[in-house]
Amino acid sequence: MDHLKAKIRHVPDFPKKGILFYDITTLLSDARGFADTIDALAAPYMGEDIDQVVGIESRGFILGAAVANALGSGFIPIRKPGKLPSLTHKESYNLEYGTDALEIHQDACPTDHRILIVDDVLATGGTARAAIDLVRKVGGKVIGAAFLIELDFLNGRAKLEGEPVYSVLRY
Ligand code: AMP
Repeated sequence: MDHLKAKIRHVPDFPKKGILFYDITTLLSDARGFADTIDALAAPYMGEDIDQVVGIESRGFILGAAVANALGSGFIPIRKPGKLPSLTHKESYNLEYGTDALEIHQDACPTDHRILIVDDVLATGGTARAAIDLVRKVGGKVIGAAFLIELDFLNGRAKLEGEPVYSVLRY
């Protein structure tokens, strides 16, 4: 996986001083890098009968939609507040840099559908925690939460204790 790591750009002090931003645009613009990224994210879930992949706005949309296609699953967006047009459920959470909230459509999936959550980075775990809670709120069964990058030093896994977390690259 070192060839994937080599294509990720590290941007210091973005979006705030003290944050090292893992910029995946340099990975996604490389055809081989993009394909290998999606293969690596999808591989553990082949044969898991995933009904829908949930992608978290906005980089989770890029990865999640491609993973859904690889798995033959549908796609469900989890978005920032005010973006989804129909009735929603909402969860607030803390970010590595600030606070925010996420929403899902109340009728996003039928009860007990097998759901895989996908995002680019697992940092403090607040975003993923909110996404898992939202999926359960609409009746989905969380089969996995998959990340391209996990920042071990922020200990996001602690917030996801007992949840089925998988990450391709760890720092
Ligand atoms: P967290 O809720 O702290 O786990 O943050 C995860 C979310 O914030 C993901 O959707 C990431 O896209 C974004 N994020 C947090 N920290 C970083 C980072 N250092 N580099 C890039 N994206 C980040």
